Amino acid sequence: MLEKIEKLSKILNESYSEKSLINSLKTFFATSFGVEDFGINIENNSMSLAGFKYPLFKHKKVIGSLVFDKQTQELEDFLKYTAPFISLKIQNIILTDKMQKNIGFHDTMKNIAKIIETQYELNYVVPIIGEMIDKFFPDYLIYIFLKDENAGVNVLSWPSACNDNKILEIITNINTPILTDDRKTFAVPLKSEGKEVGVLVAKSTNEGITEKDIDYLSQLAVQIATTINRANVYAEILKHATLDALTGFYNRRQLEERIKQEVSNAKRQNAPLCGIMTDVDFFKNVNDTYGHAVGDLVLKTIAKIIRGQLREYDIAGRYGGEEFSILLPFTKIDEAKMVAERLRQTIENRVIDISKVNPESEVKSIGITISLGIYEMKDGDSDEDLLKKADKALYQAKNTGRNKVVVQNE
Ligand code: GH3
Ligand code: MG
Ligand code: MG
Repeated sequence: MLEKIEKLSKILNESYSEKSLINSLKTFFATSFGVEDFGINIENNSMSLAGFKYPLFKHKKVIGSLVFDKQTQELEDFLKYTAPFISLKIQNIILTDKMQKNIGFHDTMKNIAKIIETQYELNYVVPIIGEMIDKFFPDYLIYIFLKDENAGVNVLSWPSACNDNKILEIITNINTPILTDDRKTFAVPLKSEGKEVGVLVAKSTNEGITEKDIDYLSQLAVQIATTINRANVYAEILKHATLDALTGFYNRRQLEERIKQEVSNAKRQNAPLCGIMTDVDFFKNVNDTYGHAVGDLVLKTIAKIIRGQLREYDIAGRYGGEEFSILLPFTKIDEAKMVAERLRQTIENRVIDISKVNPESEVKSIGITISLGIYEMKDGDSDEDLLKKADKALYQAKNTGRNKVVVQNE
């Protein structure tokens, strides 16, 4: 008996998961007591085994049972002494599992909160959130639907496809959380500040969705809704208030946000990203000679030319007074060089009519040039490095004659 107790105590000490505990106990009861089949029933566990049941207590409450395919006096005597220890071990493992999941959940919540602070564009936000939740619930398929403001319907936003007609039916008309009768599909509306912004859906691929997971999903839904609502509001504000009044480009602050997004996006997708810094040559002279209004007209003209030359997904910002920054996603340095050179030439060749802005001036039109520095992001570069290094090249361009493009290699 003592030998068996020692053997069991070793097993209890060395098992760290429910599965490994059950497997070790199975072998132990087989070799020590000739038990051919053994299992553990635990409350909350839908599995219910038949056979000789020996109860497991937590204080005075039964929390489950050990189940054997046969019953012997020796086994019963043994369990009388040892069952409390097995029970304790099981409680421990269950508690550890719960804590692990809780830590995972709080990490996920924290990460979403972080996104709320730094990312504003839904195109970036939703896939990141989707992937995070997916990772947290490996047994469920996760879908995020967003409300299309114009059409007033929920449209799948993540992942790219949903072929489950039941889900598509549920999300067309949903006001409160819905758990299907088989407990395999849970849909929760995403509500923020009284507005419905979409629906989060979890679909279990095997067992029913647990109460605890419903609680997790409901809490996540609140967080997601806040993020999405904020992104929507931000997009609206962005259109009206954060653009530079003179050029219509992103202002410095907004530009910095976009740099963060583009850099992380490029890193995530392993895509090239180039930054261009430009500065108007001898701009002070323009102001001093023709007045500030002409200076402003020059800046507007340059901004218009830049906008006209860029692709839709390129990003232009007003970095400072007469300094513009351009981000070229999915662009390698050779292509960026061509873009920069084309820009430089177009501006050099443009004749700017200043007669309307400054009627007194004898000179009716002027020409202007810009200098440009460009840099392609490398592994290990930070958000700031992109424009900092492009600015280094710009400095070179200024120092070696102006009206030129210089590439910063590292
Ligand atoms: P460099 O080729 O070395 O760049 O010569 P620069 O004259 O451009 O020198 P600097 O960059 O120091 O001068 C920038 C000038 O741009 C100074 C400032 O008066 C002018 N400026 C900055 N913002 C504005 C603006 O919004 N409107 C106008 N009209 N001028 C501005
Ligand atoms: Mg300057
Ligand atoms: Mg200048």
